[in-house]
Amino acid sequence: MGERVVGMLGAGLADAAAPLVRADDLGLLRGDGCFESALVRDGDVVWLDAHLGRLAASAARLDLPAPDLDAWRALAGEVVRAWGRPGEAVLRLVLTRGPEDGGPPTGLAMVSALGAKVLRQRAEGVHVLSLSRGMPSDLPAAAPWLLAGVKALSYAVNMASVRYAEAKGADDVVFTSIDGHVLEGPTSTVVWAAGGTLHTVPATEPILDGITVRELFGAVDGIPTTVGPARLEDLHAADGVWLVSSVRRLAPVLSLDGRSCPGGPLTSVLRRALGLPEMARKSLPEPPRST
Ligand code: PLP
Repeated sequence: MGERVVGMLGAGLADAAAPLVRADDLGLLRGDGCFESALVRDGDVVWLDAHLGRLAASAARLDLPAPDLDAWRALAGEVVRAWGRPGEAVLRLVLTRGPEDGGPPTGLAMVSALGAKVLRQRAEGVHVLSLSRGMPSDLPAAAPWLLAGVKALSYAVNMASVRYAEAKGADDVVFTSIDGHVLEGPTSTVVWAAGGTLHTVPATEPILDGITVRELFGAVDGIPTTVGPARLEDLHAADGVWLVSSVRRLAPVLSLDGRSCPGGPLTSVLRRALGLPEMARKSLPEPPRST
């Protein structure tokens, strides 16, 4: 079996090495569509219904026809079964507006192995830079066409921010609004601990409504959780900061803008809540050079 399994909506399993999307597909030409990334664990897709629900919400925000969620669920099951390996993998669901000259939306599901970087950052943590997302915190209501909070295919800005951070010696990013609110990572939700409570940013900010943070806050027993806006000072003053997302799950933030973050004694509790195994303790890498 290859390193990925692919299925097309309406056609089932496909040759993963073959060209499957037309050259005039608007997902390719304009990044016009939406996607989901979910964790596969021992043949089950973690929180599949939540991912399908968000795919439908993204499609609605993009004025795409409502996806047939039963067909998507069946396709997801088919590719995951064909993958057939124990342990973890990533399931991606991609929905585009389809060919430029008309025709049905393109739907694709793909299962592949987790990348080495994801596994390393999960285990070791990440050095993070704060970068402006260039938008105000009231953007979702003021400018819905900017698709804040939609898991749209146009992730080039998010990926460019990670390359920028890497060029400065960091690993990942926390975006801020132009009025100074903490938003999210390019592929993650920000969680921090303060005063014995776990915090995150409300989905009323221009951020994706994260599924993993919902999963985490529902699974941490006996730790209060709260949702509210924050500024970078709140993260600097926190007792621990983490980036959470469906596939990487939990990446402890080792430093923010060159300032070390506390070791986050809660990390092992949060890892357990997200179904990750206990880590052997090891010394943490140095923060990157400051910018
Ligand atoms: N924010 C952004 C921009 C993301 O791309 C992601 C996931 O990829 C998240 C947050 C975390 O969302 P989830 O926990 O649903 O994976």
